[in-house]
Amino acid sequence: MSKINADVVIIGGGFMGASAAFFLRQRNRSVVLLERDLVGQQASGVNFGNVRRQGRFLPQLPLANRSREIWGKMADLIGEDAEFLPTGHLRLCFRDEDLETLERYAADARPYGLELELLGRNALRDRFPFVGPDAIAASFSPNDGHANPRLAAPAFARAASRAGAEVFERTEVLSIEKAGEDFQVESHDGRVFQAPVVLVTAGVWGGQLSQQFDEPVPIVAMGPQMAVTEPVPYALEPVVGICSSVPEEVVYLRQVKRGNIVYGGGLRGPALPDIRRSYVLPSNTLSQFENVQRLVPALGNLRVIRTWSGIEGYLQDDIPIMGESARVSGLYYAFGFCGHGFQLGPGVGDVMAELIDRGSTETPIDPFHIGRFSEQPA
Ligand SMILES: Cc1cc2nc3c(=O)[nH]c(=O)nc-3n(C[C@H](O)[C@H](O)[C@H](O)COP(=O)(O)OP(=O)(O)OC[C@H]3O[C@@H](n4cnc5c(N)ncnc54)[C@H](O)[C@@H]3O)c2cc1C
Repeated sequence: MSKINADVVIIGGGFMGASAAFFLRQRNRSVVLLERDLVGQQASGVNFGNVRRQGRFLPQLPLANRSREIWGKMADLIGEDAEFLPTGHLRLCFRDEDLETLERYAADARPYGLELELLGRNALRDRFPFVGPDAIAASFSPNDGHANPRLAAPAFARAASRAGAEVFERTEVLSIEKAGEDFQVESHDGRVFQAPVVLVTAGVWGGQLSQQFDEPVPIVAMGPQMAVTEPVPYALEPVVGICSSVPEEVVYLRQVKRGNIVYGGGLRGPALPDIRRSYVLPSNTLSQFENVQRLVPALGNLRVIRTWSGIEGYLQDDIPIMGESARVSGLYYAFGFCGHGFQLGPGVGDVMAELIDRGSTETPIDPFHIGRFSEQPA
């Protein structure tokens, strides 16, 4: 069987892989994108759809800002907007200590260019009358919003393909080896893809691939829990979330233009990457529904029509792995997005393409380097 050559082989067709393929083509790099299932079938296609910057790890804000810019021009860039709505993101709180956290975050985020509006009890109700009585204040991020995860990664993969990337679905990578200057990437059906650069964007499965190069990472799989209600007339513009240290309370919701209210959060359920299954915890579904009613009491009148989960990779420090390998030249990683990679998707692809193309990137990503796991003292 003949080898398929490219400048870059990308392993994993989630949001990160699809957007990296697109941005590498913009830089005239030939690209092969390999996806075991269908593009965007895993976390990238089943997530909540929050395009949220507020509340993020502060050093991640430059990357989130770069991503937000791309969200705003996606229709021009790739011909589809993935139903992105810049409706704003409202982060409520129930307690004084959480209000202090919101105030501190707003002050700390400002130097990164993220302007947040703090709303006291009365201002909050004047502006967002649907909010429940337990909320004492909120922080509003006017330029955040939400989008349809089902559409985003396939839209980038289609655009990459139109621009000349070769996208292979139903193609599972079993091994990657470096022989001389090039990597040989072998798929389950014996095909070999050859390139001087490999980018691993394999979500929670990225750890199995980095392990092949003696770069193990402590990644664990978990399943965030989601649900959706029957449709009702469109009335809730912003995404609504909460700042709380009580895990069960940390739920969030958004209404799509068709009327359904999507919500999620609370306790995460089990996820088994080897068999590609994640499970909904019925007890969490019940607790979620109670907790979203604390945010917006009117939701108690609605019927829940579907629940689901997805497989996401989490690191102990709750930040992803991005950048070049610490051991092998030409090998790059962007995986393990710890439940907050959807907003970052376009920015991660753009930054990884820049890093591969130029050897450096304008957006700081040093905190995410894989070397942090090997540099820890014994
Ligand atoms: C239920 C849920 C809700 C979430 N909500 C949000 C949210 O609201 N906002 C937000 O910002 N983030 C959210 N996230 C997180 C976000 O979805 C992920 O961080 C992001 O989608 C990760 O994208 P990815 O491309 O890295 O991974 P994935 O989407 O997992 O894609 C990796 C791909 O690699 C493929 N692959 C793996 N191994 C191989 C191999 N050996 N060969 C070929 N292909 C391979 C897989 O099949 C998969 O398609 C949520 C996640 C979940 C699960």
